[in-house]
Amino acid sequence: MSTWVFHHEACLAHIPGTGHPESPQRLQVVMEALRQPEFEDLAWRQAPAGMREQVLLVHRAEYVDAIAAAAPSSGLVALDGGDTLMSPGSWEAVMRCVGAACAGVDAVLAGEAANVFCATRPCGHHAEPDAAMGFCIFNQAAIAAVHALRTHGLQRVAVIDFDVHHGNGTQAAFYHRPELFFGSSHQSPLYPGTGAAGETGASGNIVNLPLPPGCGSALFRARVAATLLPALRRFMPQLIIVSAGFDAHRLDPLAHMNLEDEDFAWITREVMAIADDLCQGRIVSILEGGYSGEGLAGGCAAHVRALMRH
Ligand SMILES: [Zn+2]
Repeated sequence: MSTWVFHHEACLAHIPGTGHPESPQRLQVVMEALRQPEFEDLAWRQAPAGMREQVLLVHRAEYVDAIAAAAPSSGLVALDGGDTLMSPGSWEAVMRCVGAACAGVDAVLAGEAANVFCATRPCGHHAEPDAAMGFCIFNQAAIAAVHALRTHGLQRVAVIDFDVHHGNGTQAAFYHRPELFFGSSHQSPLYPGTGAAGETGASGNIVNLPLPPGCGSALFRARVAATLLPALRRFMPQLIIVSAGFDAHRLDPLAHMNLEDEDFAWITREVMAIADDLCQGRIVSILEGGYSGEGLAGGCAAHVRALMRH
């Protein structure tokens, strides 16, 4: 079995405006990296369009309707004061993100794919059940996790989020749901300001690992190995979703952590080892942030290279 990559051209047509850091160029950089000869064994798949019922697994109907109505036929519409914008291509882009994540779960649980990477944008982990936030409109990682529970009958699904920003949206969706685990490493203080270690979820199902600005490889690996990984293992997941952001890279302009490409390979291998032990290696990884072209390409290539060595 091979590693599958879900992608769709529509994800390039969400254009939040000149100078916006969450640009189509981010995805182009990722695609260029993954089309190098060393990645020739990847199986490319067209992301299907997500369904409204899938979005409703996490988001409130009123919110979904409001987003559908907000999509402009020209120009830009701001959803949250200017950070998160919709262009004419945004609705299809976010629905392809949802479709890719759910199809990734289907492929892994059917035993068709060894594991999956969703090369999609915009990112999703800041999107709350009833609010767009931080460049995110629908939360495809949270949706994929609930899809695995509802459609496939799983009883325990985990999301591991190593984006440099706290995944407040995923945490909000999971807070009162003991069958879902959310583990996040992130810089603190930093946007969005949530993710303190004391935010543990109603059943201890949330594990937050705030890390200081300047945090580099050694501290990151030591703290992840001491807290996030043991908690993930104790949860006994039947499937692991990864919110794979690459903005903790030392080159990233929106944060101040100092990770190297190889650190993203390291955490990927550690999560894969847990998945191999507990859930037949089932991992669906979803692109989140990363705003340095070089840092995003290098970190993402290291991550997918590790996924391919299953
Ligand atoms: Zn981020």
